[in-house]
Amino acid sequence: MRALVKYDRGPGLVEIREVPRPQPPPGWVQIQVRAVAICGSDIHIRDDAHPYWPPITLGHEFSGVISQLGEGVEGWEVGQRVVSETRTGSCGVCQLCQTGWPHVCPHKRPPGIGINGAMTDYLVMPARLLHRIPDNVSFDQAALMEPTACCIHGLLERVSVQPGDLVVIQGPGPIGIISLLLARIAGARAVIVSGTTRSARHRLPVAVRCGADVVVDVGKESLEEAVMDLSDGNGADVVFETSGSPQAIAEAFRIVRRCGRIGAIGISGGMEVPVPWDVGVFKAPVLTYCFSSTWSAWEHGLALLASGKLDLAPVITHRFTLDQWEQAFEVMENSEGLKVLIYPDIALEN
Ligand SMILES: [Zn+2]
Ligand SMILES: [Zn+2]
Repeated sequence: MRALVKYDRGPGLVEIREVPRPQPPPGWVQIQVRAVAICGSDIHIRDDAHPYWPPITLGHEFSGVISQLGEGVEGWEVGQRVVSETRTGSCGVCQLCQTGWPHVCPHKRPPGIGINGAMTDYLVMPARLLHRIPDNVSFDQAALMEPTACCIHGLLERVSVQPGDLVVIQGPGPIGIISLLLARIAGARAVIVSGTTRSARHRLPVAVRCGADVVVDVGKESLEEAVMDLSDGNGADVVFETSGSPQAIAEAFRIVRRCGRIGAIGISGGMEVPVPWDVGVFKAPVLTYCFSSTWSAWEHGLALLASGKLDLAPVITHRFTLDQWEQAFEVMENSEGLKVLIYPDIALEN
């Protein structure tokens, strides 16, 4: 089978290779991939700017069908439609694993990063990490469950948006738009989405279509003014920073209300980020870093998709075959759209 492989350390060094079909070890299943989404971290791995353990097949945002059961797997059947959490390698015995935080276990080696991922026909995953895709949810939308679960964990489980909150989402990328959809479901009284002039062309219009009350192109307008206008000068209850831009991170301190909440989910890419520290001290907001996702975030995300309350269709803007991977990565990199799906060879046959 053909796979998109990051075959060594260094910038680039990604190509399509012929690889053997993996066999599931005891307790694992083999999954036939139906759709896989490109994540910003796939671009960072290609560029050697993210932790990874080569050689590996890329891809950790995927949906598929169980095609083989490893020894001792119970409660699952060949043919079931599934997605999988990505905390492979989490040890189960460290303090974090034992206290309900296995997704931040230092031994975690996710597919597409530490073990072979989904930009190919088949991969293997531990049965304990699987979630069933509800019958009325498409493989395409299910492939976005990983980033969606990260947003649910960050925005709803950790930052805990409440009905009536004024929410600002900084950054209109896939994480920003999915967070916008979730903030509306959670009952935010208004959601403001901000982005740069570069993202304004393709991404802010999607934010409007997804129900943003106000969108702000920070290259042309003042986000602070928009926030103060909507809050009688008090500031936002919640600022969810998805861009990783140092300017946006500093601005989060200026636009959050006193004793409000800032959620940080965007990655700066290793840059030093100066923040107006004293503004933070005097306003006393809660600053919460958000990383990865929990079992409950996956279950809630799938249930929201099944109920129709969450519709990720507007987030999927491009679709490519595995052969077109370079073009697919370019679209993602240039912020020309939002989520980009890749269909491996086997998905095209089904
Ligand atoms: Zn991802
Ligand atoms: Zn652990």
